[in-house]
Amino acid sequence: MLGISKTYYCPMEIHADVVRLQLAETFTIARESNDWDDVVQVEIRRGDHVGRGEAAPIERYEETPTSALAFIEEHGALVGDDPFDLEQIGARLAEFPGEHAAKAALDGALHDLQGKILGVPVWRLLGLPRVGPPTSWTIWLGDPDDMARRTEKVTGRFRRLKLKLGGADGLDVERVRAVRSRTDLPLQVDVNEWWSLAEALDAIPQLAELGVSYVEQPLPAGDPGAEELKARSPLPIYVDEDCHTLSDVVRCADIADGITIKLAKSGGIREGIRMAHAARALGLGVMVGCMVESGIGIAAGCVIAPLCDHVDLDGNLLLAEDPCPGVLFADGFQVPSDGPGLGVG
Ligand SMILES: [Mg+2]
Repeated sequence: MLGISKTYYCPMEIHADVVRLQLAETFTIARESNDWDDVVQVEIRRGDHVGRGEAAPIERYEETPTSALAFIEEHGALVGDDPFDLEQIGARLAEFPGEHAAKAALDGALHDLQGKILGVPVWRLLGLPRVGPPTSWTIWLGDPDDMARRTEKVTGRFRRLKLKLGGADGLDVERVRAVRSRTDLPLQVDVNEWWSLAEALDAIPQLAELGVSYVEQPLPAGDPGAEELKARSPLPIYVDEDCHTLSDVVRCADIADGITIKLAKSGGIREGIRMAHAARALGLGVMVGCMVESGIGIAAGCVIAPLCDHVDLDGNLLLAEDPCPGVLFADGFQVPSDGPGLGVG
């Protein structure tokens, strides 16, 4: 705990904290490098039951732990007194734009609380299977040799790998070639908005030859070349930074072959499920991703994993120690608890 902690009283009691999660190793992507990440954890108490939710505010979208706590302080009372009234609660919170991480933490806590009141896991409450596709493991950005070495270290533990690219040094294809020389696992890459259209059109055919499955967010969000890239790319394009909530999904059908859902962007499980169904209706592939999160956040992500083609829920596995264990990593799969709610404490 960071000592940033407040308790608000409403018909249900809400308590919010900022918790620092320490990474096992420095995690590098195109735009930043981190040794830790701060998440917002929310507890919603109703009688003897406590629901817990978590989400990581994303700086790229101008959300911080401080802004998330301020949102919960100001608007948390809008959850009202009925944890099952998710549609109306969501509508009330949506009156206030942004702060999707705060909304996701509240949404996760409400789902957890529902499950605990009823004594069933959230995945069962929602009529979903317990387990989705296997999770990828992220090979974060480094030089090609370093990424190849880290690939060897995880061989046998994971069923697919996600490579962070966007080194801005002309070596991105070499990175994939170096990793491919050490593994036959399915590979996907995430460029985090770092290529131009010309760079993408040059690199992607080479990645196709190396057996990469798909490319995540090669161009900056809103890039005018996105439709051309989709038309000309030999590999499927998935968008992450371009796709936040349900209202973004239609546009994504013009610029991509799939979307990346993250609960910290969508505002929670409920909106994530809506996005998955909308994407299916448009013929898009669906991936669920995550931020650096404890087991609480990952358990919420696991709920929508069965609706997805691809799962990237390794945030808790990147931690030096998960302070909220409850999701079992087994044979490449993230398996949520069969305990009540999200099954984490
Ligand atoms: Mg991404």
